Amino acid sequence: MSGTIDNDALLAELRALYARIDVLYADWSCPSSTECCRFGITGRQPYVTSIELTMVERAIAKRGGMPSPKKRALPLTEDKPRERICPLLNRDNQCSIYADRPFGCRTFFCERAKQGEGPARSALQTHVNELRALAERHKLGGDAPRPLMRALGCE
Ligand code: SF4
Repeated sequence: MSGTIDNDALLAELRALYARIDVLYADWSCPSSTECCRFGITGRQPYVTSIELTMVERAIAKRGGMPSPKKRALPLTEDKPRERICPLLNRDNQCSIYADRPFGCRTFFCERAKQGEGPARSALQTHVNELRALAERHKLGGDAPRPLMRALGCE
């Protein structure tokens, strides 16, 4: 229908983009420290576009809501208030929406990630551009990525 955004179709395109990224970086590895999900430790966090946020929100709804505070990850350090743990990281130190996690969570932005033989991070720009184009179609007029915590209403 003219003027209507077909979220399902855009989400299918986003999933296809994620699948291509996952293949490209399949031989990268990380120590699963969960540091990248503890934004106070890394000093940064993934930024999400509106289409990525839509996928995250659907995944949260599908699992019945955000993990309850009791099921969320425990702090690793004694400097607890400053870890700023992603509310989607559970007590088993796993992402509770792993299959639907945003672009930034797939591209090893943690410095401890070990590079494989796949393309270097600089090669991601093509995919970033694809993501931006998708986001612009999702939110007409453009979309400014937002920090994940803010997008989730957690700060
Ligand atoms: S969405 Fe998942 S992978 Fe990304 S920061 Fe949160 S818990 Fe970690």
